[in-house]
Amino acid sequence: MTRPLEVTARRYRAGAVVLGDRAGTVLRDAVLDVAEGRITWIGPVADAPPSNAPETRLPGLISPGLLNAHCHSPMTLFRGIGEGLPLNRWLSEVMWPREGRLTADDVRAAMRLASAEMLRHGITTSVEMYMYADAVVEAVRESGARAVVMSPLLAAPGWEHLGTLDEQLERAVRHADSVGKDPYVEVGIGPHAAYTVPLDILRRAAELTREHRMLLHIHVAETQGEAAELEDEHGASVPRILADHGILGGRMLAAHCVWMSDADLDVWAEHDVSVAHCPQSNAKLAAGIAPLTGMLERGIRVGLGTDGPASNNNLDLWEEIRLAAQLARLRALDPNALSAADAFWLATGGGAAALGRDDIGLLEPGRWADFCQIDTDDVAFIPVESGADLLTHLVWSAGSQHVRDTWVAGRQVVADGVCLTVDEPEARTEVRKRAARLGQA
Ligand SMILES: [Zn+2]
Repeated sequence: MTRPLEVTARRYRAGAVVLGDRAGTVLRDAVLDVAEGRITWIGPVADAPPSNAPETRLPGLISPGLLNAHCHSPMTLFRGIGEGLPLNRWLSEVMWPREGRLTADDVRAAMRLASAEMLRHGITTSVEMYMYADAVVEAVRESGARAVVMSPLLAAPGWEHLGTLDEQLERAVRHADSVGKDPYVEVGIGPHAAYTVPLDILRRAAELTREHRMLLHIHVAETQGEAAELEDEHGASVPRILADHGILGGRMLAAHCVWMSDADLDVWAEHDVSVAHCPQSNAKLAAGIAPLTGMLERGIRVGLGTDGPASNNNLDLWEEIRLAAQLARLRALDPNALSAADAFWLATGGGAAALGRDDIGLLEPGRWADFCQIDTDDVAFIPVESGADLLTHLVWSAGSQHVRDTWVAGRQVVADGVCLTVDEPEARTEVRKRAARLGQA
C-alpha cells in the first residue's frame, strides 16, 4: 500500500545546508521549509519568508539524501560471500546457486534490513535490481525509503522456477501495472547484461521502457572480456551492438562501464545513456577503474552505486564518494581530476540526473524533502574556516557514521542513528536465520 504523504508544514533551521548542486553550494545558518513532503523554500535565515509552521532547530549540517544508483540490496543475505573469486566464478559458483534457492519472503526480509542500513547512512533513494521485485517494493514501502525498482531479466542455471525470459518480461509489465503511480516507488526493467540476455529480449525490453517512459537498467563492460563471444560474433563492442540493435535511446542507465573505449563513451554520449559508477565493487572484484572523467567530459550523466552488499560489502555511499574521487585522481595522476564538490554531486544532484529524475537529489523548492542531518560536532569537522571546508570535510573526513537523522518526503525515518520504520534487531535476526538456510547446499 502506498504511504500517505506527510502534510504538516515544517520549518527546519540548520547551522549549514549543502544543496547537492554541481557548484558545491553551502549555505551557513539556513532555513528549509517543507510542506506536503516537498521543499517549499530554502535559503539563508535572513531572507526567509514569514512562516507559522513549527520550527525544528538542527545544530548540524543538512545534506540532500544520497542516491544509490546501482544496487542489489537483498544480497545483504550474502554479504561478503566468495571472497577472492573473480566475477565469473563468483556469479556461477557462489551467487547463482544460492539465489536459486531464494523465496520472495527471503527477499522481503533482506530488503527491509538493507533499507534500514541505507536510511541510517543517509541514502534516501536506491536503484534496485533483484528477483521478486514485488517483495522489494513491499519492503521499501514498509521502510519509508524511496526506490526505483527494476524487474530483473536473467535466466541462470537453477533459476528455472523464475520462468523463461519471455515470462519474466511479461511479469515486468504486470509488475509495472500493479505498482502504478506511487510517489515513493518507480519501476523499471533490469536485464542483467548483453552477454547473458539475448538481443531480441533486450530490444523488446527497450521498446517497453521507451513506450512507458520507464528506466532500462543493465550491466555493461564490468569486467574485461566478459562479452568476448558476443563481440566476436558481431565484430563490435557491446555499446556499439546495443546502439545498432535499437536498444538505446530511452531512459537508459548502464552500471559499471569499466572497459569502455573512447568510441564506446561517444556512443553513450550520442544516445544519452547514463552511468552508475560503482568504484568499490569494481575495486574489490579487481574489475578495473572506470573512465569517470572521460564520461563527465562528454556530458554523460553519472551517479554512484554501491552494487550489492555481496561484493562491496556494505551499503555505504559515502565510501563510494571518496573512492570515486581518489580513483579519478590516481588514474589521471592529477589532484584536480575530480573536485570534492563534483564527487559529492555524483551522489546527489548528479545521481538524480543520471536517473532522469528532477524531483529528488538536490535541495531546492519543488523537489521532495529527502534529506539528512550530519553531526558536525565531531573531529571530522574541525576546523572549519569557510563553507567550502564543510563540503571538503564531508567528502574527505566524514562518513556514514556522522549521519544522525534522515527524512524522506518530509517524514523522519531515522532519529539519532536509529531507524524508526524498521525494527533493526528483529530484521537482523531474521536475515541471519535465512542466510544460514540459504548457505546449505
Ligand atoms: Zn550489479
